[in-house]
Amino acid sequence: MTDTIDTTKQLHYLSSALKAPRILHAATRLADQARDAGWSFEEYLAAVLEREVSARNASGADLRIRAAGFGARKTLDDFDFDQQPAVRTQIAALASGAFLTEARNIVLLGPPGTGKTHLAVGLGIQACRHGHRVLFATATDWVTRLTDAHRAGRLPTELARLRRYGLIIVDEVGYLPFEQDAANLFFQLVSSRYEHASLILTSNLPFSSWGSVFGDQVVAAAMIDRIVHHADVLTLKGASYRLRNRGIDTLPSIRTTNETHN
Ligand code: ADP
Ligand code: MG
Repeated sequence: MTDTIDTTKQLHYLSSALKAPRILHAATRLADQARDAGWSFEEYLAAVLEREVSARNASGADLRIRAAGFGARKTLDDFDFDQQPAVRTQIAALASGAFLTEARNIVLLGPPGTGKTHLAVGLGIQACRHGHRVLFATATDWVTRLTDAHRAGRLPTELARLRRYGLIIVDEVGYLPFEQDAANLFFQLVSSRYEHASLILTSNLPFSSWGSVFGDQVVAAAMIDRIVHHADVLTLKGASYRLRNRGIDTLPSIRTTNETHN
């Protein structure tokens, strides 16, 4: 009895010295299970440590997800691929996160409401779970951040800092046209990540219209060249998911963007 109390006290002390308080809990709970099931000492130790490691991974992922700045936490599991069957296999492959270690990019194109932001966030959450740091913002927000850094004379520092993120997501390229200066800053972001770290971009405009977004065909062409050199380009199709079952499937904007994608 005294032995059990001493051992419990010792586990208390040791697990807090290791800054792994969950070990104490797992050790006690799994000991009963181990006795009942006749585990070996090695099996028991592995089971206890495994609980700690998976709890740590999960809380690391959770911190990264919170730091990424996703609006709503949309996961790939929440996505109904029956609405977009053409991208099912590609997204499943990308979910493994292999594109991040190869510094490849992903471009999601398609009309409004077809799930571009949802898939970008879903892939971003997967990246966090795979241990990568992620930052999500709209194209307009990225331009504001880069402009601020440029004005403060710390653009190179900011670009170097951003390279430490395995994935940067730029949502809604093309919703608002960029000023010439903004287009150049955005080009620098793309160049600084080229073959170093990944980007996911979403846009409701086909590449052929990016020249007018960036106000310069040459800058747009040079940027698209770097983005798509190592990239998966996925095109989503159909009517807006937001408007399904509402009897509205002919918004003027949807008709126009659908035509540009055909
Ligand atoms: P986009 O960025 O292409 O305009 P969103 O990704 O914002 O579209 O999608 C609009 C809304 O519809 C979001 O709430 C999103 O979660 C939902 N949505 C879109 N497509 C799907 C889908 N295939 N399955 C589940 N939800 C979807
Ligand atoms: Mg969107």
